Amino acid sequence: MKQNLNFTALGGNYLFSGIAEKIKSFKKNNPEINLIDLSIGDIKLPLSGAVTSAMARAALELSEKETFRGYPPTRGYGFLIEKIIAFYKEKGVTLSENEIFISDGAKSDLGNIVELFPKGSKVLLFTPCYPAYKDVNIIYGNKIIYAFGTKENGFKPKPPEDENPDIIYICSPNNPTGNVLTFNELDCLTDYAKRKGAVIIFDSAYGGFAPKGFPSTVYNSENGKTTSIEINSFSKLAGFTGVRCGFTVIPEILGEYNKMWLRNRSAKFNGVSYITQRGAEAFFSEEGRNDSKNKIGYYKENAEILKKALKKINLWYNTVNASPYVFFACPDGFGSEEFFDKLLNCAGIVSTPGIGFGEAGEGYMRFSAFCDRKEIIEASERLTSLF
Ligand code: PLP
Repeated sequence: MKQNLNFTALGGNYLFSGIAEKIKSFKKNNPEINLIDLSIGDIKLPLSGAVTSAMARAALELSEKETFRGYPPTRGYGFLIEKIIAFYKEKGVTLSENEIFISDGAKSDLGNIVELFPKGSKVLLFTPCYPAYKDVNIIYGNKIIYAFGTKENGFKPKPPEDENPDIIYICSPNNPTGNVLTFNELDCLTDYAKRKGAVIIFDSAYGGFAPKGFPSTVYNSENGKTTSIEINSFSKLAGFTGVRCGFTVIPEILGEYNKMWLRNRSAKFNGVSYITQRGAEAFFSEEGRNDSKNKIGYYKENAEILKKALKKINLWYNTVNASPYVFFACPDGFGSEEFFDKLLNCAGIVSTPGIGFGEAGEGYMRFSAFCDRKEIIEASERLTSLF
């Protein structure tokens, strides 16, 4: 029997599956310790009432013959696409309904999008980065090249002039570093893509965390539409990690990619449920938007509280406040997996070792601030008493 041998090049577990196993074993051996999980970036606050009421109404509609709905349209329902168009309009970007594809979240599209390119394409990753970018491209048989982030370049490495990538993944605000691109930096990157004939896959999953004065979409750049596909999500914007909804934007001006994606989606995907899309639509209501803004503010404040604790124990951290993540350095002499173990065993805190985001993450750690405030305060106290 034949197998796709690219899987052997992936190495061990997907980052968070490995962490989940360590947590399970720790809990089994130390049932009395109350672990604080600052590892996976999963939402902790509940959905907006506007969203859940809309989903409940939609569920009831499905119980009536007159309002029942079966398969959703491949691109998504017009009522949601309209709201997304208006959302981009606020950012100064004009999109048409044919340029938007509703998805079940960013992760599947970030992976499936590689099918629009020939196998063996050259993919540029700015590392450390979200591990799925690397994994999906290895599975597909693409060739990966890296631009290495370091403390010296502020974890904003320049793209390599001596390389000619076909695909470039960019994430801003960034997971795990927490950096956000400026308008000028975004322009430099889209200009690079244009010169190299590359397509940018812009991961905007944390767009809602971009502070005022920073771009939250790649289309805020002059060359954005002619170079970039944007992959977006309601997960962190509206707490949809469990509900599952997102959207991908492929400008028609970008050539055949828009048509190929429609063909790809028709072949592989039967759409996102009516209930979910009504919930996502409700995010755009005044109540939904306010709730989202407040929750994003809450998570950002959590991140600042954790940073204060890191300051007290003299560990370097990225000061940019544009994401739910705190990216910080391990103490001298610690590798990131060793420090993960120390935090787990000596403080009952679950973190994410930087190495999980690529070699450039070695020596660094990530805390997720998607937590209840009480847990963040407790984690800060445990951290400061650790040293
Ligand atoms: N992109 C980045 C950078 C992420 O950190 C995550 C999830 O944590 C995703 C995409 C996946 O988002 P979704 O829940 O929409 O699949």
